[in-house]
Amino acid sequence: MRKNIVAGNWKMNNDLAETEMFLVDLKKQVFPEDVAVMVAPPFTSLHHTFNSLREHPVTIAAQNMHQSNEGAFTGEVSAKMLKSVGVSTVILGHSERRAFFNEDGSLLAEKVNTALENKMTLIFCIGEELADRKAENHFSLINRQLSEGLFHISEAAWENVIIAYEPVWAIGTGETASPEQAQEMHQYIRKLINENYNETIAKKVSILYGGSVKPDNAAEIFGQADVDGGLIGGASLKVASFMKIVNAF
Ligand code: PEP
Repeated sequence: MRKNIVAGNWKMNNDLAETEMFLVDLKKQVFPEDVAVMVAPPFTSLHHTFNSLREHPVTIAAQNMHQSNEGAFTGEVSAKMLKSVGVSTVILGHSERRAFFNEDGSLLAEKVNTALENKMTLIFCIGEELADRKAENHFSLINRQLSEGLFHISEAAWENVIIAYEPVWAIGTGETASPEQAQEMHQYIRKLINENYNETIAKKVSILYGGSVKPDNAAEIFGQADVDGGLIGGASLKVASFMKIVNAF
């Protein structure tokens, strides 16, 4: 059985006081047993969030990390530092990292290796731009992103990998992929994993959809056979809307 997962990506939102307000509310919630709930606050709130949620079934994820374990990389944060504040899950390859911080396939492959060497779980994001979809290049683009960044890992490493398919044209735009478009791509991703690895891994890996998931469209998207949950941006910033999505399976 694959895990259902809902992960909130706060991006560069919520300072420490706002984080605390969110956590006070979140800790009052009852979490469904069959959904793994994750939140990804900014670096400055990770330690506090980890301490605050120790007794609650919520995984804390980082939004990024550096590919080196230490060194002269001003402004960067390593896997070891994340683990020292209780964080063992990291989002890698978000489209905003790819677009605004020039993260390409080979850099992401290094980050993937570093995360796995440090025994972290990673949420590996892939997704096409609108132009790719219009040109009907979306399948080959997804194949390329997976081949460049992820398909070098060992079979055993897949235990610690979650994939998030996030069409860039649907992120923060209010425009969602239709449930059929999401299903079609998730099925294709599973087919690629089967071709590059095997059916057991392909069936076991959780593939999340991301891109304007909201309380009113989550159930339909999560109801698709190959969609195992969501990576949620805007709608994860308020506990009420986040919990509606958590409960949408
Ligand atoms: C995201 O940033 O991963 C995301 C899916 O954002 P939104 O839900 O706001 O589209």
